[in-house]
Amino acid sequence: MRQLHIPMAALVCSVWLVPMTPAAAASPCMVVTLTGTQSGPALFNGLAGAGTLVRFGDDDNDCGTVKLQFDAGRGTNMRLSQSGVTPAQLNAIFFTHMHSDHTEGFADIIQMRWNYNSTGPKLDVVCSADAESPLGFTISCRKLATHVGDAFLQSGEIAQRRAEDKRRLAGGPADLANVITFVPPNEPQIVWSSGDVKVTAIRSTHIAGHASFRVDTPAGSVVIGGDAGSDVVAPPRASSTSEQVERLAQGVDIIVHSTMHPVMGPDRGSGMPPPVFYRQSGTADLGAMARRVGAKHLMLTHLAPSLGAERHGPYKVPGGPLTAADYRKVVEASGFTGNTVVGTDLASIRLPAK
Ligand SMILES: [Zn+2]
Repeated sequence: MRQLHIPMAALVCSVWLVPMTPAAAASPCMVVTLTGTQSGPALFNGLAGAGTLVRFGDDDNDCGTVKLQFDAGRGTNMRLSQSGVTPAQLNAIFFTHMHSDHTEGFADIIQMRWNYNSTGPKLDVVCSADAESPLGFTISCRKLATHVGDAFLQSGEIAQRRAEDKRRLAGGPADLANVITFVPPNEPQIVWSSGDVKVTAIRSTHIAGHASFRVDTPAGSVVIGGDAGSDVVAPPRASSTSEQVERLAQGVDIIVHSTMHPVMGPDRGSGMPPPVFYRQSGTADLGAMARRVGAKHLMLTHLAPSLGAERHGPYKVPGGPLTAADYRKVVEASGFTGNTVVGTDLASIRLPAK
């Protein structure tokens, strides 16, 4: 009888210990980081090109179980390194569209993965299927991925590095890309998932093949609009924002979206061609959309013009450089009362907040 009591006591102890320790430690979390906030192909003050890193995990691994990169403009790899993320750690990279300010950092990322992690898993590259532009050519994410290493194949770099380490794949970095394409739908559609993390996409208007994404995790959700604008490409129209993105963003926690400040408008003398101005979502309209969908956070990125810039590419900023307050004022006037982040490189939001 005495011997029987000892194991029972041990059992009671373990029942106490097992549920308490992991439950307290494994609280899910998500971090959204702007890896670049430059708008368009121009360079300004060291800003990286457009991109957003979404991390999901729990307190034990610094929200780092899943790491997803959305767009990869110039310098994305540098910003990832400042966030402690290596190319090998990315589970997938998503592209909203094929403009170079969203894609030119891709080669850097996948080349480095090829250098050091050729034996590791391929990188999922998730983007639109080939899209015919009404202007008479094809926009092809698949070709971007297939030919991403061509310059280095031609220069002999791939052969040289492979001679140094035969584990590197013969075809260069393209051999490490697992391209997953979808035809951008008018209703949200799942395009990628892993465990509790689900990524949906929707068609949106900017250039042919543009798509916007939403990530849902147990810790929260984020919409990455990219450069989406209204299907009605110029006024008169209800809003410069995309109706599809608004559907995608219903009830979302965070919206990350490119924006165009009203100061660049055709009525203000910046010299920016009206179609370039109108194909982006205006700052006031984004604030109004964020309010309508009930978002808690609006992260403005891909700011046109950049904070502190005299010019936006070739175009003058009428009235002189803008501050974060100039963007914030426009959002506040729209009636959005949530948290507005006027994007700077590496600005982050963690859910839940620490
Ligand atoms: Zn862009």
